[in-house]
Amino acid sequence: MNHHPSREPEMAAVETPDREKTDVTGIDPALIFRTKGFLEPAEGRRLFQVALEASRLGPCLEIGSYCGKSTLYIGAACKKNHSTLFAVDHHEGSEEQQPGEGYFDPETWDIRQGRMDTLPLFRQTLSDGGLLDTVVPVLAKSAVAARHWATPLSLVFIDGGHTFAAAFTDYSAWAGHILPGGYLLIHDIFKDPAAGGQAPHYIYNLAATSGLFAVLPMTGTLGVLRRRACGEVLESFPDA
Ligand code: SAH
Ligand code: MG
Repeated sequence: MNHHPSREPEMAAVETPDREKTDVTGIDPALIFRTKGFLEPAEGRRLFQVALEASRLGPCLEIGSYCGKSTLYIGAACKKNHSTLFAVDHHEGSEEQQPGEGYFDPETWDIRQGRMDTLPLFRQTLSDGGLLDTVVPVLAKSAVAARHWATPLSLVFIDGGHTFAAAFTDYSAWAGHILPGGYLLIHDIFKDPAAGGQAPHYIYNLAATSGLFAVLPMTGTLGVLRRRACGEVLESFPDA
């Protein structure tokens, strides 16, 4: 007779690792971890969730891909819906990412060209993430890419230059292309000027007070707004 207690109840009580419980994106965690970028995991998961809903309506577009961290999250959602993510970046880096500045990474420096070039790293991320048939890289300044843009977008994610001029250009050039029911997402929103630059916060307020968008809860520094239906009349004035 077998006197050893069955191990089964013990096994059943073992917790699934936290990562498996919370990772809804299906992206390889090691790939996310090794991809250079400026996005918290919770912000990434929110990007994925919003993009999963939005990309059923049409293509998504991001301004500012860097090495592709945000691209992985939005791209994974687009891939599930057989949609497309346009990823706009000149890949020469923002002001704060240049040599001598706070966010400079020597691995983004191209010695031969004598300037930053994140395109090779970005392309590797797309390849590793299985996103080459989902993401369309647009190697251009935001304003140049916008010049003849005519495709309605289900989601616009603004994470490009952080000067007021750059942020305002991104907002004015792209927000008008968002479909009713689509989303505008803006990264690096700091309500307290001591915590960070105010340009993203400025365009977030423009959108929030325009009456064109419903303001949804933020995740970290990620602002989320939903484009209202055309003809929807607000019950009260938006807060200025
Ligand atoms: N979304 C990325 C971080 C983007 S960093 C992540 O998840 O990690 C900002 C990026 O915006 C840089 O790669 C920079 O090259 C790009 N950028 C800055 N100004 C731009 C402009 N005017 N047009 C296009 N890209 C721009
Ligand atoms: Mg950012």
